[in-house]
Amino acid sequence: MIMEEHERPLTGGKFAFVTMLNISITVVEIVGGLLAGSLALVTDAIHNFGDSLSIVLSYSAQRIGQRDQDERATFGYHRVEILTAFVNSLVLILISIVLVWEGIQRLLHQQPINGYVMFWTALISFSFNMGSALLMHADSRGSLNIKATYLHLLADALASIAVIIGSLMVLAFHIYWIDAALTIVVSLYIIYETVDVVKQTSKILLQNAPVLDYDAITEAMTRVPGVVDVHHLHAWMEDEKDIIFSAHVNITPDAIEDIEWITAQETQLLQQRFNICHVTVQIEITHGLNSAKFAKHEML
Ligand SMILES: [Zn+2]
Ligand SMILES: [Zn+2]
Repeated sequence: MIMEEHERPLTGGKFAFVTMLNISITVVEIVGGLLAGSLALVTDAIHNFGDSLSIVLSYSAQRIGQRDQDERATFGYHRVEILTAFVNSLVLILISIVLVWEGIQRLLHQQPINGYVMFWTALISFSFNMGSALLMHADSRGSLNIKATYLHLLADALASIAVIIGSLMVLAFHIYWIDAALTIVVSLYIIYETVDVVKQTSKILLQNAPVLDYDAITEAMTRVPGVVDVHHLHAWMEDEKDIIFSAHVNITPDAIEDIEWITAQETQLLQQRFNICHVTVQIEITHGLNSAKFAKHEML
């Protein structure tokens, strides 16, 4: 599963070319897998299909995500990408679980496999995977995102090598169970690749708090002249990089004239020191003074 960062648009023919290669591998492996009777090839085909799908989906989600905020989405459309990646990963994991089950069935009831077809199919998909990895390699120094894609494609090429070795074992020793074993290994590899994306995206969708030093934030906010207390902090992720923050700030009665200055100070502090992208501050005097740092259910 390849999850793209949206600040680096998937531009240019290179990504399109790599996607085309991935789709070709999918087709070759499905045809070859069915002809050879190799479940491992079909499994790897599904893996490559998942990769192509995630590139295409994140490309289109990215385009939607670039739309401006409007009445229907005051936060904008960035989370289309998050939701897409979440659903995509979840489906891949479910398919992989089915494939692990199928692999176990195959281990118990072995079926003959055409080693020649398996070998050539795996060889073709290996060269396509390796080709796209090398294509990415040149650009992988500057961008973390492209580097992740490169490493992913490289790992995928290694999976093809495993299938090549498996086909040689089928050819030389008629060890048919190797196909079922590879199916299970490749499926587990897909799950391993994908689980992290599910974790990250579900955290964002569940409004889980980003990792911030909330004690340091409270302390710094309270140190602004005129401020006596801070309560009901909320922080959440709009997408994988933008943090939204809100808090109630108690000030002394004689600081009322400085409300705009205090708000500006707090906003600047949060944006510059804590990398928060959007800040909302509610100024209060006695209201909610000394209530919990993180809101309980009463609205103060
Ligand atoms: Zn992959
Ligand atoms: Zn309050």
